[in-house]
Amino acid sequence: MPKAQRDQYDYDLFVIGTGPGGEGAAMQVAKRGWRVGVAERYRLIGGGCTHWGTIPSKAFRYAITSTMRALSNPVMRELGVTISPTMEQLRRGTQAIVGRQVSMRRSFYDRNDVPIHRGQARFLDEHTVSIDNDKPVTAAHFVIATGSRPYRPANVDFTHPRIYDSDTILDMAEKPSSITVYGAGVIGTEYASMFRNLGIKINLVNTRSKLLEFLDDEITDALSYHLRDQGVIIRHNEAMDRIEGCDDGVVLHLKSGKVLKSDVFLWANGRQGNTDDFGLEHLPFEANRRGQIDVNEQFQTSLPHIYAVGDVIGIPSLASAAYTQGRAAGMHMLGHTSGNLRLNDIPAGIYTSPEISTVGSTERELTEQCVPYEVGQSQFRSLARAQITGDTVGMLKILFHRETKRVLGVHCFGANASEIIHIGQAIMNQPDQHNTVDYFIETTFNYPTMAEAYRVAALNGINRLF
Ligand SMILES: Cc1cc2nc3c(=O)[nH]c(=O)nc-3n(C[C@H](O)[C@H](O)[C@H](O)COP(=O)(O)OP(=O)(O)OC[C@H]3O[C@@H](n4cnc5c(N)ncnc54)[C@H](O)[C@@H]3O)c2cc1C
Repeated sequence: MPKAQRDQYDYDLFVIGTGPGGEGAAMQVAKRGWRVGVAERYRLIGGGCTHWGTIPSKAFRYAITSTMRALSNPVMRELGVTISPTMEQLRRGTQAIVGRQVSMRRSFYDRNDVPIHRGQARFLDEHTVSIDNDKPVTAAHFVIATGSRPYRPANVDFTHPRIYDSDTILDMAEKPSSITVYGAGVIGTEYASMFRNLGIKINLVNTRSKLLEFLDDEITDALSYHLRDQGVIIRHNEAMDRIEGCDDGVVLHLKSGKVLKSDVFLWANGRQGNTDDFGLEHLPFEANRRGQIDVNEQFQTSLPHIYAVGDVIGIPSLASAAYTQGRAAGMHMLGHTSGNLRLNDIPAGIYTSPEISTVGSTERELTEQCVPYEVGQSQFRSLARAQITGDTVGMLKILFHRETKRVLGVHCFGANASEIIHIGQAIMNQPDQHNTVDYFIETTFNYPTMAEAYRVAALNGINRLF
C-alpha cells in the first residue's frame, strides 16, 4: 500500500498480541520505518510463550534436571544429601527468568518506538480496532497474533483445586505424590517427563495408539521405552468418560472401564485459538471450531491487509515458528519476498527425558514416497563426550538418499538433542552437492563433542552403500 494511502490511518501496522508471532512482525516492520503499534491484554508483554508456555516450562524443567543431577552426583550421595526441592523453590528461578525476558522484550518495543496499547483488542471494521472498548485505533495493515490457550471441555471442572491445565499446573502449591496427565501430545509428554524426574508417580493417558505419532518410529519407540523405564505408566487408546474431583484426589473414569486415582489431574488434550470476543463478526472471515484462522502462504486472511500468524493459525504451534511467521508476514506487507525464511523447514524440539529433536522426513514418510534412502546411526553411549558427562542415553540418525547422498532427515534423542539437530539442519539447507552426508565424513569436528555423532552416523550409513 503506498505511503499516502497508509497515512490516512493511525498506524501503518497494528499487531494484536505480543508473543513471538506479534513481536516478529512488529520488529520486522518497525525497523523499516513504518509506524507500528501493538495491543496486549495481559498486564505484561511476551505472550503465552513467556508467561504460560515455553519459557516457564523450560525454566522449570531446567530447575528440576539441574537439581536432580546435582543430587545424583556421587560426592553428594557420599555426603548423604537427600533433599527434595519444593514447588516454591523450583518456581523461584522460573519467575526470575520470566522477569528477565519481559524486560528484555519490553526494551525491543521501546527502542523501536512501538507503543503498547493495554487491553483486549476487538475489530470494529476492516481497518479499526477498539482496545478495551476505548478510543478506536485505525491501521492500514493488521497482524493477528493472539495465540492459543488450553481447550477446556465443559465436563471438566477446572475450578477444582486438584484439576489443572498447562496454564495453571506450575502454580501448584505443593508437590503431589501422583499426577494423571490426560493427553500425550508434546505438552502432556513433557510435563509427564518433568514430574517423573521429581519422583512423582505418573499416569500418562494417551488418546492415540502411539506417543507423538509425527516423530520417526524409532524415536517414538525409544521415548516410550525410556518413559516406562523411568516408571511412567502409559495407557494408549483411552478416552475420558468423566472426571471426579474429590477432597483427597481426582478420579479419572475412562470409557474402557478403567478408573485411575491420583492426587492431581493435568488436562493436556488440545488447544483453542484466541479469537473469541475479538469482533470477528465485523470481518468477512470466521474462525474454525478450534478458534483458528485460515491463511494463505503469505499468512494473509481473506482480507489481504489482515495477516494472522502463530498459534492462532494452528500447527506447528511452536514459538520458533510463530516468530518466523511474524517476520514473514511483515516482509510480505513491506513488499519483500520471505522465500529466504525457509518456512517449511521447522525443526521440532521436545523437552522430554530423553530430549528429542527432529528435522526433515521420517523413515515412514520416505518409505511411503518410495524414496531410496539409507540410514546412518550413532549411539551416544559410544561417544567419548557422552561417556565423560554420563549422558549415554541417546541416538542420532541421519536419513540420506542412497544415490545423491543428500540428507533427507535427521532424528535425535538424548542430551541436548534440540541443539545438536541444527548441524544437520544447516547441511540439509545447503545447495545441491553441498547438502550430502559426505560433509560429516570430510569435516573435522572438535573432540570430544556430541557433534561427533554426525561423523559416526555418516560413516555407519555410508558403509551400508554398495
Ligand atoms: C507448556 C507449553 C510449553 C511449550 N514449549 C514450547 C517449546 O519448548 N518450544 C516452542 O517453540 N514452543 C513451545 N510452546 C508453544 C509456544 O509457547 C507457542 O507456540 C507460542 O507462544 C505461540 O506464539 P504466539 O505469538 O502465536 O502466541 P502467544 O505467545 O500465546 O501470545 C499471544 C498474545 O496475544 C495476547 N492476546 C490474545 N488475544 C488478544 C486480544 N484480543 N487483544 C490483545 N491481546 C491479545 C495474549 O494475551 C498473548 O500475550 C509451548 C507451549 C506450552 C503451552
